[in-house]
Amino acid sequence: MPTPGLDGYVPSWQRPEHGDLAELARAFFTKEVLPHTERLERQGHPDREHYRRAGELGLLGLSVPEQYGGGGGDFTHEAVLLHEQMLTGEGSLGLAVHSGIITGYLAEYGTDEQKRRWLPGLCSGELVGAIAMTEPGGGSDLQAMRTRAVRDGDDYLVSGAKTFITNGGVADLVILAAKTDPAQGAAGISLLVCEVAGDPPGFRRGRLLDKIGLHGNDTAELFFDDLRVPAADRLGDEGTGFFLMMRQLPQERLVIGVGAVAAMQRAVELTVAYAKERTAFGKPLIGHQNTRMVLAECATRTRAARIFLDDCIARHTRGELDVATAAMAKSWLTEGQCEVVDRCLQIFGGYGYTTEYPIARMYADARVQKIYGGTNEIMKELIARAL
Ligand SMILES: Cc1cc2nc3c(=O)[nH]c(=O)nc-3n(C[C@H](O)[C@H](O)[C@H](O)COP(=O)(O)OP(=O)(O)OC[C@H]3O[C@@H](n4cnc5c(N)ncnc54)[C@H](O)[C@@H]3O)c2cc1C
Repeated sequence: MPTPGLDGYVPSWQRPEHGDLAELARAFFTKEVLPHTERLERQGHPDREHYRRAGELGLLGLSVPEQYGGGGGDFTHEAVLLHEQMLTGEGSLGLAVHSGIITGYLAEYGTDEQKRRWLPGLCSGELVGAIAMTEPGGGSDLQAMRTRAVRDGDDYLVSGAKTFITNGGVADLVILAAKTDPAQGAAGISLLVCEVAGDPPGFRRGRLLDKIGLHGNDTAELFFDDLRVPAADRLGDEGTGFFLMMRQLPQERLVIGVGAVAAMQRAVELTVAYAKERTAFGKPLIGHQNTRMVLAECATRTRAARIFLDDCIARHTRGELDVATAAMAKSWLTEGQCEVVDRCLQIFGGYGYTTEYPIARMYADARVQKIYGGTNEIMKELIARAL
């Protein structure tokens, strides 16, 4: 059984195999990755070996068809994996992008040849994937991107800069959004799969960005200076990149929501345990009325969040998740995460402000959830447009 949490709630889509997967994932994160957390946070990126080990255990590409090396499952399996990763507190492996996003783009839009070339490596952990949309000049207004891909015979020559790219420090494959026709807005954008292992000529990784949280995961700037990319490595037709991204963004937003709900669940569990143990004025914190009220509210918010998320997952699995509902999930769940983690941290008092306590890291890690994947302001714009 995936960890049911304080409330014992079980999602409608859950089947026995999800329970086995959750156990396997939990054991991997807890026993094989978490013991290295401090070192991974110091180095600022995950170990390649941990990707390979996840692949060996069958934890990568869970929704990728078996013929391309994947698990043959669907999004519910990816959701269980990401839920367990967040619940155990493992934050170095960029699985939300690698498995939650990259394999989805390739499986959906790749040609058979492209799938055979890249998916098995992504599923075995030999390859790590990233997606590069955001530019230094702006992330919200994707249509205004400036990175250019100019046709040169059978290739494109790519020039430009991307920033805030998750897995950017270690990635071998980058799905890059670039303008193939700068005279056009959305219709001028194409997606190119760039093979960047070993940093080929025309490609450079900038520094790993020094973030307030998520210290074990690499977020990098990427620079392109006439990087040669075969036209055969374009995903979909020229000029369809923006529309392909719009089609995939609901899943990306759901992935963020999965992390948000798992973090809320973890925060409540950690805080209940602490409040039972710590005493003030001669009784455990949980015996004080305010603590009880705060925890009751956080547990209720978490349960409601799980039920909404699970409904979105069920809709997505049926191919029925619309843009506005995904935006509701992303914005409301991440706001819930930040609120619940903040209120829980308060119950830890001064210890909540020290990084020795997981709640402090959770506080720092949570903040970005309202920013990436489309800011929550943009989510509200999308919701409002559908009203
Ligand atoms: C840790 C981390 C990981 C990331 N990973 C990736 C990744 O893997 N790939 C990738 O491509 N990007 C990634 N991003 C980038 C992220 O998606 C962008 O930061 C985000 O989309 C916002 O873009 P921006 O930072 O340029 O802000 P801007 O677009 O400059 O926005 C600044 C502010 O203005 C607000 N704003 C903008 N337009 C409007 C509007 N129309 N109405 C109201 N308010 C508006 C925004 O909500 C925001 O508050 C990551 C970012 C971080 C911090």
